[in-house]
Amino acid sequence: MRDAPGDWSPVDFERHGGQLLAAIREHFDNVRDVPVARPCDAAELISRLDSNIPEDGEDFSRILADTLEKVVPDLVQWNHPAFHGYFSTCASFPGILAETLTAALNVNAMLWKTSPAASALERVVLRWVANMVGYPDRSDGVLVSGASLATLYALAAARDVALDHDVRDQGMGSPNAAVPRIYTSDQAHSSVDKAAITLGIGLRNVVRIPSDEHYRMRPDLLAEAIAGDLASGRVPVAVVATVGTTSVAAADPLAPIAEVCQRHGVWLHVDAAYGGFFALVPRLRGVLEDLSLGDSLVVNPQKTLFVPLDATALYCRRNGALTNTFRLVPEYLTSAHADGTFDYMDFSPQLGRGFRALKYWWVIRSFGRAGLEARLDFAVEMAEWLREQARDHADWQCPAPSVYPLVCLRYVPRSLGSADLATDECARAAVNELNARIVEEVNASGAAYVSHSVIRDGFVIRVSIGNIHSTWSDVERLWAVLTRTAEKVL
Ligand SMILES: *Cc1c(COP(=O)(O)O)cnc(C)c1O
Repeated sequence: MRDAPGDWSPVDFERHGGQLLAAIREHFDNVRDVPVARPCDAAELISRLDSNIPEDGEDFSRILADTLEKVVPDLVQWNHPAFHGYFSTCASFPGILAETLTAALNVNAMLWKTSPAASALERVVLRWVANMVGYPDRSDGVLVSGASLATLYALAAARDVALDHDVRDQGMGSPNAAVPRIYTSDQAHSSVDKAAITLGIGLRNVVRIPSDEHYRMRPDLLAEAIAGDLASGRVPVAVVATVGTTSVAAADPLAPIAEVCQRHGVWLHVDAAYGGFFALVPRLRGVLEDLSLGDSLVVNPQKTLFVPLDATALYCRRNGALTNTFRLVPEYLTSAHADGTFDYMDFSPQLGRGFRALKYWWVIRSFGRAGLEARLDFAVEMAEWLREQARDHADWQCPAPSVYPLVCLRYVPRSLGSADLATDECARAAVNELNARIVEEVNASGAAYVSHSVIRDGFVIRVSIGNIHSTWSDVERLWAVLTRTAEKVL
């Protein structure tokens, strides 16, 4: 009989692991010399990485060297202190280590009995997170892979509650089915539309409620839209309110929106994927929305709590609603729950699920509530400093200021003279073009990475601050890069 081919020996594993950790350490020791991104020739990249399947196993040192040399430089360095694109997502060191142990154990947290401590720990971290963001901690909750999917699952539950016929059994095409409607602001994330596509509700039934001058959903227009739909026999399924919108990080006014929802018995889903954890920051407490008003809530620790992708928390205070929609138990997955335990597979369509709770547990325990609060507060302070620089500079504007550390900047040079941007189409296009070029040049330089959006003022440079490694000198350097690039482009 031949020997089992087997895995690396545990000794080799430790040796290679040491090499890897050393490489990661070196990366972060020198991270400010690493370009955040670099221009990339797609054809060259594809041909550089393309190769035949290796017939024989290769030495790990060689694989690691190739990875560092041929792959990593053409990633965008999302975990870089000068990465400010989209919403800065950040993986902290404890989170990174937790991912390693999670992979080593490779447990499946689908049923309680398939890994009791994984489910028990998931419940603990869900309760911690609920406490941090001010959501009732006895609510149903589940860790899912991304805020888009969390919203999809919440809206599936809302749909099944709202429609008269049994959607689980009959599908959407029942003969007596009324037209379902979802309401969200004109600023809401595209995941709401994708959910409507996926759930058979349809894009035309996503009603985009106009936002006010601060990019917040207008509750009066929401009330009108719902009343109009009810009068014509349509069925309001849910309102999706956003706390921390994608373009400018505005927050919809939850109290009046919840009041409209309650009046008509409509489900309120709160998408606080970005904004949720700033509830930890004391100086913001007076101005933040009350997340507990949502029937369901999504928050994204992968965005702002230093937990590596993917790590989204979905809550639903209408206990039982998620399981009414998603619980379906074939014989081979049955288990007894005499002891009051539960199966996480019942809370979403996902069966096999990783042990996401461990990285939450390690990150939250490593920094503590106070440490997380201090880090988010620091990001808020750096963003405020950046806004001040723009406001104090004759050539820069800071439109749609947010309370969160997302800064929208717009370069409007004095030298454009007296052109009135509100009426002069041509001047406005030129300024938009200028700002688009700044984004391109900054990102091509490798010194920082920013993204953009188009708001009522026009094209804006979006700067998201929130990497755990970012310092004052990083944000000062960022401002210097922006102003220098703007002058060069002009
Ligand atoms: C990031 C974000 C999403 C999408 O999150 P994913 O985890 O990437 O699916 C949805 N809504 C808002 C408000 C967001 O900020």
